[in-house]
Amino acid sequence: MTVTSHPNTRPRINDASINLNEAERERIRAKSALFAPPDAVMKDGRRDLVGMSREELASVMVEIGEKPFRAKQLWHWIYHQGATDFSTMSTIAKPLQEKLKEHFVVARPETSLEQTSTDETRKFLFRFRDGQEAETVYIPDRREDRGAVCISSQVGCTLSCTFCHTGTQKLVRNLGAAEIVSQFMAARDSYNEWPSPHGDTPRLLSTIVLMGMGEPLYNYDNVAKAMRIVMDGEGIALSRRRITLSTSGVVPMMDRCGEELGVNLAISLHAVTNELRDQIVPLNRKYPIEELMAACQRYPAATNSRRITFEYIMLRGINDSDADARELVRLIRGLPAKVNLIPFNPWPGSDYLPSTRERLAKFAKIVMDAGFSAPIRMPRGQDILAACGQLRTESERQRKSA
Ligand code: SAH
Ligand code: SF4
Repeated sequence: MTVTSHPNTRPRINDASINLNEAERERIRAKSALFAPPDAVMKDGRRDLVGMSREELASVMVEIGEKPFRAKQLWHWIYHQGATDFSTMSTIAKPLQEKLKEHFVVARPETSLEQTSTDETRKFLFRFRDGQEAETVYIPDRREDRGAVCISSQVGCTLSCTFCHTGTQKLVRNLGAAEIVSQFMAARDSYNEWPSPHGDTPRLLSTIVLMGMGEPLYNYDNVAKAMRIVMDGEGIALSRRRITLSTSGVVPMMDRCGEELGVNLAISLHAVTNELRDQIVPLNRKYPIEELMAACQRYPAATNSRRITFEYIMLRGINDSDADARELVRLIRGLPAKVNLIPFNPWPGSDYLPSTRERLAKFAKIVMDAGFSAPIRMPRGQDILAACGQLRTESERQRKSA
C-alpha cells in the first residue's frame, strides 16, 4: 500500500483529541520506560544525590535517621556551591559529613573527551556509570560573557531524520535526571563557574538548550525532573526563560511541557509540506504539520516576548526555494514565532549539501519581509564535530544477556 500525502490536506484531529492525546501520552511514557536509565547507585552501593528532587533528598535523609531539613542544606551545597566533596560542606558538622560519605556521593560523569574549537566552542563527551556516553556542547556568546550549554537527553535517538548524524545511531537508552543535570554541572566545573551567580550577574553558562542528542519529549519525565532542579531558585536558579527545549514535533507531549515546565519551545520544522517532511523528519508521518502547528497555537508558554523558534535546516535544492519560504511564512503567520535558519552541517557519510549563501540570504529576506526575525545560525565548532546535528557516539545498545 502506498501512503500518499499532500501538503496540509490531512484531516484535522477531531474533538476527541484531548482524550486521544492522553492515551498517546501513556503510550509514549510506556515506550520510554523500556529505555530507562540504570539506578543512580555506585558499585559499592552508595547513592548519587545529584538528580534527586527536593522531596527525594528529604526522604533519603530520613532513611538514614536525619532530619528532613538537611535536604535544604545539601541542596545549597550541591546546586549553589557546586560541591562534590562532603568535607567541604562547612555548615554540616564533621560526624554528619562522615555519615553522608558512607551512604552517598555527589557525582559527575567521567569526561572521556574535551575538545575546544578554534571558535571557542567546547565539546564534552561524558561517560556515565554504565559506560554509555553522550555529548554536551558549550557555545560561548561571541560578544558577551555568556553562552549556551547544549545538552543531550538520550544516548542515540529513535527517530531518524535524514540530515542528522544522531539519527544514524539507534536509541541506546534515555538519560536519567542526574545525567541530564550533571552535564550542565560538569560543563560548569570546566569553566570554574561555582557558586551559581545570583540574579542578573553575568554567567558564562547562562542558557540551556535541549538540542543535543535525542528527542527530549520522548524522555519527558527525566527531562522535566532535571529542568525542575536546574530552575530551583536556591540552586542553579536558571529561569525558565533561559531554557529552550527543541522537539522534532512530539505533539502530545508539547502541551504538557508548556503547562508543567513553561520553558521556551523550539520546533525542528525543516519542511513546509507533509510530503517532504514525511521523508526528512519521519515523525511527521505520525504528527503531521497541521497537528504540529495546532499544538504550537496552544503552547501555553509562548508570548510575543517569548516566541516559539522554528528551526529550519537549509538543504540545497530540497527545501530552500522561494515557494518554501512563502509557505513557511503562511504556516507561522499569527503565531508568536521567530525562525532560525540553520545551514546544513555535513557529517561523514551525509547525503545533503548546504544551501548557497545567496539562497540563504534570499530565503531569509522573504521571511523577514513578512515581519519575522530570521537569523542565520552560524555553525559553531564544526572542526570538532560539535555543530548542530553532528553529534553521535560509539555507544551501542547492550544485548541483554540471557
Ligand atoms: N531531537 C530534537 C532535539 C535535537 S536538536 C530535535 O530534533 O529538535 C538538534 C537540532 O539540530 C535540530 O533542530 C535538528 O534538526 C538540527 N540538525 C540535525 N542535523 C543537523 C545538521 N546536519 N545540520 C544542521 N542542523 C542539524
Ligand atoms: Fe533525533 Fe532530533 Fe536528530 Fe531527528 S534531528 S534524529 S529527532 S536528534
